[in-house]
Amino acid sequence: MVNIINGKDVSNNLRNNLKDKISQLKSINNIHPSLAVIIVGDDPASKIYVNNKKKACEEIGIKSHEFVLPSDISEYKLLQLIEELNCRDDVNGILVQLPLPSHLNEKAIIEHINPIKDVDAFHEINVGKIMTGNFEFLPCTPAGIMQLLDDYNIDIAGKHCVIIGRSNIVGKPMAMLMLHRDATVTICHSKTQNLSEICKTADILIAAVGQANFVTADMVKNGAVVIDVGINRNEAGKLCGDVDFERVKDIASYITPVPGGVGPMTIAILMKNTVTAAILQSKNN
Ligand code: NAD
Repeated sequence: MVNIINGKDVSNNLRNNLKDKISQLKSINNIHPSLAVIIVGDDPASKIYVNNKKKACEEIGIKSHEFVLPSDISEYKLLQLIEELNCRDDVNGILVQLPLPSHLNEKAIIEHINPIKDVDAFHEINVGKIMTGNFEFLPCTPAGIMQLLDDYNIDIAGKHCVIIGRSNIVGKPMAMLMLHRDATVTICHSKTQNLSEICKTADILIAAVGQANFVTADMVKNGAVVIDVGINRNEAGKLCGDVDFERVKDIASYITPVPGGVGPMTIAILMKNTVTAAILQSKNN
């Protein structure tokens, strides 16, 4: 019998704990966590993500500052805004909603964020810290997945973890976190040969591809833990992940649904990182 991993419940617990922590920080330590979110242009999906983040912040007592910039803004102006936010004591976290319009150099912009305010953990300094295991912030989606595995007491050490996808925001940091927890890790990608055979050897299979029904039942070992990161729309326009959930759930021991699995964790970890940033900055003052 499969266990459906409930990301909503786990994220709600995390948010409630953070809410208590924030109210203590405010009343005892005079620390008021705050997050600045920058959105460039009017991409509807980005707008939804930003609104969800803003709402989640407000619900647990994090102040949010939203900066909506025109899609033709110059890179210089955007860098100036980041510089200003880097210097503001009332801003602990800075998040630039990706993707950015093509005339903006994403890498240069992320590298301009002060690493101590980089709550997405995309800055190269924070990426390097993830490699060594000496980190303050972890990227939200991989950290959220680790929390799901831990909440469900899923063993990681010694297990074979196969990750499909090698992006900087999901696949690569995910591999590093699993390695830190003593998993044996295989990263697969668009050029991987014998993908099905490799996936079939996974005790923990993590799919971060971005294609509906990419992981089919014949690619999954009996009793495997299946984590679905993908966010796609199927032919009927319905939200779905990368995994053929209906068939794979009959084989897996644990599986995350889409929606309601990994997604809610991503925002909750962003909140956690903002609180961490506020505490770290208060120590530096
Ligand atoms: P990406 O496009 O940067 O990376 C996709 C990866 O899939 C690439 O590394 C590529 O090599 C691999 N890939 C493509 N075709 C393949 C194939 N045929 N065989 C094997 N590998 C293949 O995407 P990303 O940013 O890592 O996101 C992946 C998915 O996760 C997307 O659907 C995205 O929307 C979703 N996502 C969800 C959350 C969340 O909170 N749930 C967060 C981030 C991303």
